[in-house]
Amino acid sequence: MSVVSVGSATLLQKIETLLVRLKLARALEVLDDLVRRMESGELSALELLEQLLSEEQSTRENRRLRSASMTARLTRFKTLEGFDFSFQPSLDRNRILTLAELGFVERAEVIHLLGPPGTGKSHLAIALGFEAIKAGRSVYFATLAELITSLLKAQREGDLAARLRFLSRPAVLIVDEVGYLPLEPGGANLFFQLVNARYEKGAMILTSNRGFRDWGEVFGDNVIAAALLDRLLHHAVVIEIEGASYRLREHAHLMPESLTATTEPTPPKRRRGRPRKQENQPSLTG
Ligand code: ADP
Ligand code: MG
Repeated sequence: MSVVSVGSATLLQKIETLLVRLKLARALEVLDDLVRRMESGELSALELLEQLLSEEQSTRENRRLRSASMTARLTRFKTLEGFDFSFQPSLDRNRILTLAELGFVERAEVIHLLGPPGTGKSHLAIALGFEAIKAGRSVYFATLAELITSLLKAQREGDLAARLRFLSRPAVLIVDEVGYLPLEPGGANLFFQLVNARYEKGAMILTSNRGFRDWGEVFGDNVIAAALLDRLLHHAVVIEIEGASYRLREHAHLMPESLTATTEPTPPKRRRGRPRKQENQPSLTG
């Protein structure tokens, strides 16, 4: 039962009409409830106004974040708050939090997140992408394989220049999974064109399970790999994660030792006859 008098009822209707005209949909939704709470003495008129506007503002901000995330192709929701730094002691939390301040975006730097599978590389890349979106910057996420497929398609259709322009526009380009899959022929060359187009203009975040010394193999061409690294390491932040897989944290003992990948799948050859290192002996080479 409403205690609103006839006079304030028409006033309320007027306000509702204004909210509709101003397209303040969320404010319209919460108006009745806030008015009831004001009438029961729970809220002052100013508090009602503040809550009405806050509701509208936060709904709009959420909608903006959702839509920018879709445009960025950030379909997995990963945040820095949701990252358990205590699980990855090799990772310097403060370094990641500094990256989240987005100076690297202004400086068009390249962040390399390196480490074995499951150590949170993609999680961190996506979380930094969300930070950039929150700050109003544009982001685009793709795996290296997806990028190359799209560039090859554009090339076949005579649209390569437009595709390179499209991929050069976002303030942050996230290239996930460098080194997981063999590249399609011609792919390394197209990726080089993209990196060159963004060089010193836009920031990138790359994730990889392979060390830089494997890039010749990853890109199937030592010359292109060297040219890529030249640009991708010039203004760069390299973050190596050396821990265990978060995916396997409950089942790590089931993973065969021969499959525990590292960023260095091809260790240097041992001298013949040298005794094997004891497992707990500290390693001098890291
Ligand atoms: P990578 O890209 O290094 O292979 P992901 O970032 O995809 O690994 O991580 C695998 C899964 O584990 C994801 O669901 C991710 O959100 C989660 N994850 C990884 N590391 C952490 C962590 N330290 N805290 C919370 N979740 C994590
Ligand atoms: Mg990943």
